[in-house]
Amino acid sequence: MDDLQRILWRDMALYRALPVDIRGEIDKFVPLFLKGKQFEGKNGLTVTDRHRFLIAANAALVGAAQRVSCFASVKWVLVYPNIVHIDGEAFHVSKVVLSWECVEAESGQPEDAGSNLVVHEFAHVLDHLLGVSHGTAAMRQAFEDVERRLLGDGESLFREEDIENPQEFFASASEVFFTRPGWLAGHYPALYEDLHSIYGLDMALYLQ
Ligand SMILES: [Zn+2]
Repeated sequence: MDDLQRILWRDMALYRALPVDIRGEIDKFVPLFLKGKQFEGKNGLTVTDRHRFLIAANAALVGAAQRVSCFASVKWVLVYPNIVHIDGEAFHVSKVVLSWECVEAESGQPEDAGSNLVVHEFAHVLDHLLGVSHGTAAMRQAFEDVERRLLGDGESLFREEDIENPQEFFASASEVFFTRPGWLAGHYPALYEDLHSIYGLDMALYLQ
């Protein structure tokens, strides 16, 4: 096992949960993703291979199945130790800003909060590139249903900021797909199927 596999196996719960052929896809994606990208540590953070590998492997979940050339359009990845106002941001298709505190915690225990910042930000990039958030009836129906529930005090894994617009909903639904797939498949089966075909993974088989 080389350094990459050792680090991912130890620090990325989703990697451990996936079958060997999909882990192999991630292993192949990571070096291609890292090529041509500038990682910049902010506020005193020194970027190491561990930062690079974990960010790249989470991005692989989003980008491996689509023809996005391992997110070659993204030239800068800015890594903050933590960010006070926002946890992350994707600027169109060229720059992604991340809080390492989130990336590290969510890589270790993705199912806890149903969130994954790297998935969220790269889902935005994917959406900028392919325009997927406006795509399907299932996405619109789920968006409206979540809106109704949140307005009516109903229970949902989604939060108010997730339904700010279709782009946010797509990015947040992608997080839920990778962290709480069983919940998503149970509550929004058509949306689950859309995301299954976008990401090429039947996540509910691997996680509940
Ligand atoms: Zn967002």
